[in-house]
Amino acid sequence: MINIKRLCARIDELAQIGRVEGTQGVCRLAFTEADQQARDYIITQMKGLGLRVAVDRIGNVFGTRPGQADLPAVMTGSHIDSVRTGGRLDGALGVLAGLEVVEALNENAIMTRRPLTVAVFSNEEGARFQPDMMGSLVFQGDLDLQAALDTVGIDGISVRESLARIGMTGAADTRDMAVYGFVELHIEQGPVLETLGRTIGIVEGVQGISWTQFVVEGTSNHAGTTPMNMRTDAGHVATRIATFARALAGELGPAQLATVGALTLYPNLVNVVPSRATITVDLRNTDDASLSEAEARLSEFAGKAAAQEGASLRQTRLARFAPVSFARHIMEKVEQSAAKRHLSTLRMPSGAGHDAQILARMCPSGMIFVPSVGGLSHNVNEFTNERDLDAGAMVLFDVLYDLAMSPFGTPVRCHSAPA
Ligand SMILES: [Zn+2]
Repeated sequence: MINIKRLCARIDELAQIGRVEGTQGVCRLAFTEADQQARDYIITQMKGLGLRVAVDRIGNVFGTRPGQADLPAVMTGSHIDSVRTGGRLDGALGVLAGLEVVEALNENAIMTRRPLTVAVFSNEEGARFQPDMMGSLVFQGDLDLQAALDTVGIDGISVRESLARIGMTGAADTRDMAVYGFVELHIEQGPVLETLGRTIGIVEGVQGISWTQFVVEGTSNHAGTTPMNMRTDAGHVATRIATFARALAGELGPAQLATVGALTLYPNLVNVVPSRATITVDLRNTDDASLSEAEARLSEFAGKAAAQEGASLRQTRLARFAPVSFARHIMEKVEQSAAKRHLSTLRMPSGAGHDAQILARMCPSGMIFVPSVGGLSHNVNEFTNERDLDAGAMVLFDVLYDLAMSPFGTPVRCHSAPA
């Protein structure tokens, strides 16, 4: 059913918008002129396919193909904003594959039981305005619309003003929009599928994230005259925390990740015992209990290491997102479709954040991954073979079709966005 040439042509067309000179990549920061042009392109395509287009107040775009009955819609989609030196597929694939599914249904004159909606969520990347996944958070209801609109970007301009400038402050009120299920096709953005030679990633969930900053205060002193047992070395405490984090990840198994991404010493001189050290630890795990255990053990160790050195310690939690599990029946549908089409699969977690994890709070949700060549993403050289793009779009078609034909149940959203 999927016409891969048509899908690739749309990917090429969209990638011309905000293209980074001399590369295959794009720069489409949220709510900029390039984002506006990309939205215009998508809206034109949606209208051309006969979709009913609605834009809500945070600029999310919804293109809906009616069903036989006025039931909660099946939704697919992703985002079209990018980081500053982004690839052509991150996000764009999920939106354009959704349009291809619609066109395939149109071509074959298939009327689904339920409506099918293709969504473009605003500011998924968070490269200009934080938090990331802003559009889906507002749609789902956990982020207040006014707070999102008041957010000021890295250029000092607010979301409200940026949206007004690009004419994307929509009027649609989506608070009562019920969603039967959400499925997002996305590139893996990592090396696992390619390395293992698998085509379809059945995403089981998104790993939880915990960021902690430790500030250690000791005493600056002379590197030559201060005996080792008379030092209060903040740097020593920080490096012990770093070493412990790495060992902890090894001990808790492959699902546990630990990264020390920032470490600064003061005064940062070759012959001075540091008086202050600031260190961050990024912990990730697909299992919430394990993540909590890692947090507790790291915190306990940091306290002990500081005490042993006679240093003071301040711990601050910078971010915490619990792991998300995707709906079992959607994973099974992905698996069945791949088997039917003789595509190899791998059940895997997502290492990155996606709109689907936010939608999972309001309706059964799932994701399909296709391989990223060289594991590259957030990179102008991001690339996926045409054969794999085709495979991903076909599986997306099957799963959306199945859901859209389903007469069973009518899950409704469990959150309402504040007006
Ligand atoms: Zn993305």
